[in-house]
Amino acid sequence: MSENTPLDRSVFDQVMVPNYAPSVVIPVKGAGSRVWDQNGREYIDFAGGIAVSALGHTHPRLVSTLKEQAEKLWHVSNVMTNEPALRLASLLTERTFAERVFFANSGAEANEAAFKLVRKYAHDHYGEDKNEILSFYSSFHGRTLFTVSVGGQAKYTEGFEPVPGGITHANYNDLASVEAVISDKTCAVVIEPVQGEGGVMPADPEFLKGLRALCDKHNALLVFDEIQTGVGRSGELYAYMKYGVMPDILTTAKSLGGGFPVAAMLTTESIAQSFGIGTHGSTYGGNPLACAVAEALLLELEEKKVIEQVPEKNARFVNALEEINAEFQVFKEIRSCGLLIGCEMNEKYQGKAKDIMAKAMEQGLMALIAGPNVLRLAPSLIIEDKDIDEGMALLRTAVREFVNTEV
Ligand SMILES: *Cc1c(COP(=O)(O)O)cnc(C)c1O
Repeated sequence: MSENTPLDRSVFDQVMVPNYAPSVVIPVKGAGSRVWDQNGREYIDFAGGIAVSALGHTHPRLVSTLKEQAEKLWHVSNVMTNEPALRLASLLTERTFAERVFFANSGAEANEAAFKLVRKYAHDHYGEDKNEILSFYSSFHGRTLFTVSVGGQAKYTEGFEPVPGGITHANYNDLASVEAVISDKTCAVVIEPVQGEGGVMPADPEFLKGLRALCDKHNALLVFDEIQTGVGRSGELYAYMKYGVMPDILTTAKSLGGGFPVAAMLTTESIAQSFGIGTHGSTYGGNPLACAVAEALLLELEEKKVIEQVPEKNARFVNALEEINAEFQVFKEIRSCGLLIGCEMNEKYQGKAKDIMAKAMEQGLMALIAGPNVLRLAPSLIIEDKDIDEGMALLRTAVREFVNTEV
């Protein structure tokens, strides 16, 4: 590649590992829920960088916080602590069940910490035989070998064997299937309160309450992976608050940094004791840049009462989607939890969610899928009503074109 080669999509195939299949569109600029590509074409963003851009693109407060911190201090390592990390951890412990925080850089790393901690805690308190992690089919917990093995989608571990042992899967929303496999050897049950990648599938409240009771009965820890549902997306700061079911450990990432990489594992004081000095760590985890941005994001959510407005925005999205579906009959079900929305394709259009996503992109709308059958939307929590309405008009055109090309 020479200096003058245009940076188009074809360069990707020449210089990148082929594990992704990105769109031909290359965004260069964003503001709020609008994005512009290399050719100056405008897009409305219903994807939110996969449930990350909670305050949209280039939010002025996040930009100024990042710039201010960039001029003060970027990195010191965990040989020293830093003020933004102390402030963010204080805020997270004040606003949640948690009393202790471990910082990481990505969702998978926060989960890796959680899964190591549940093993270590069981080892410390009950001995080495209590080591089984119970999770759910169709769940997603990240792409490191441990987290992808705890995840419940075999296609993601195929070819990477041998995978770590001591992991069992049960059926989501099926308490009997949990009762059939949970035992005193179970050290933790790991669950997404709403399965995100698995198709935007919310847990039944009774199911989560049942898991809490089973965990208590078997001295197992309950871990909520709130990497996708957290930081206001559900309509509460964390979805566990909506369900009224308290986890022992919670992981959060994605929206936490609004696009700056940061993640955290939250837990109680007593469980945290099993991560004594030297047991676990991360070079970048808790760095001042990431923590300053996350703190600003959480404060902005509070000061502007952003989370309180999520149900209203949810209704605006869902109503528009139902209107589109009344006209074109493409979806079997529209599921949502706040601003995490999934539209499951009906029998006639099985496996075709990505075709609607592609048609939407042609119209200038960024959307997502969650598996082959679900069109997923995970927009900014502060997306403006006019962006929702305009985006939905684009989606209607995309669905109409999709239906027309299908017949
Ligand atoms: C995205 C996601 C992860 C992985 O996060 P990364 O930052 O990509 O490592 C884990 N769990 C859930 C529920 C997610 O949605």
